[in-house]
Amino acid sequence: MFLSGKRALVTGSTSGIGLAIARALHAEGAQVVLNGFGDPQEIAELQDELNAEFNGADLLDPGAIEAMMHKVGPIDILVNNAGMQHVSPVEDFPADKWNAIIGLNLTAPFHTTRLAVPHMKHSGWGRIINTASAHSLTASPFKSAYNASKHGIAGFTKTIALELAQSGVTANCISPGYVWTPLIEGQIPDTMAARGLSREEVINDVLLAKQPTKKFVQPDEVGALAVFLCREEAGNVTGANWSIDGGWTAE
Ligand code: NAD
Repeated sequence: MFLSGKRALVTGSTSGIGLAIARALHAEGAQVVLNGFGDPQEIAELQDELNAEFNGADLLDPGAIEAMMHKVGPIDILVNNAGMQHVSPVEDFPADKWNAIIGLNLTAPFHTTRLAVPHMKHSGWGRIINTASAHSLTASPFKSAYNASKHGIAGFTKTIALELAQSGVTANCISPGYVWTPLIEGQIPDTMAARGLSREEVINDVLLAKQPTKKFVQPDEVGALAVFLCREEAGNVTGANWSIDGGWTAE
C-alpha cells in the first residue's frame, strides 16, 4: 500500500482505462477522486467500491475544471485520462468535433495540470500521468483531431517534465495501442462507414492489424503501468512516453 496518504484525481474514470487506473491506484492505498459521465447509480456503486469521491465536471468547460480543482483540493497524483475520438475524412470533419477533441484531450489536461502543480511543487512530490495513445507517436487516416491532440499532449508532457524536473514531480505519458473499452467499441461503426468495411474487418484488418501481438491491450495492464510510474523507483522517469501497444509503434 505504498500510495497510502496520497490523493489521486483520475479524469474520465467512470469507464474504460481511467476506471482501471483508478482501481489500480486504490489497490495501492491512494485516495481516489473519480471524474466522468455515466449512470448515477453505477457511479455510486463505483464510489462504494473504491471509497472514492466523485466530481462530474465537464472537462470541456474550463470554469467547471477550476471549480472541480478547487473543490477537490490538493492532489498528489493527477491522471489526465478523459478523451474522445471522432473518425472522418478531414474535408468532412465537423469543426465542433475538432474543437471538442482538442478541448478534452489537450486543453483540459493543461487546465488540470496548471491548477495541480502548485501543491505538488510545494510538497516536493507529485506524479502527472497523461493517457496519450500510440497516436501520439504515429498517425492513422481519418483521425486528424485525435492524432493532433495526442501528439500535442506528448509535447505538453515533455515540457512540464522539464519545468518540474528538480521539484520531485514527474510527468509522463502512457501510450496504449488498442485497448478494448467503450471508446474503441464506439468508433467501429464510423470506421465501417468511412472505410466501407464490415465489423469483423474493422476489428481484424484495421484495429488489430496495427498490433503485432494480435491482442487488445487490457485496461488493467495500463493500470499496472500507472502504478509503476507512481513508485519511488520511477522518480527518474520523467518526460517519457511509455508505449503499451503490442509492438505497434516498434514497426
Ligand atoms: P472511454 O470512452 O471508455 O472513457 C472515457 C472517459 O472519459 C469516460 O469516463 C467518460 O465519461 C469521460 N469523459 C468523456 N467526455 C468527458 C468530459 N467532457 N468531461 C469529463 N469526462 C468525460 O474511453 P477509454 O478507451 O477508456 O479512453 C480513455 C483514454 O485513453 C482517452 O484519452 C483515450 O484517447 C485513450 N486511449 C484509448 C485507447 C483505447 O484503445 N481504448 C487507446 C489509446 C488511448
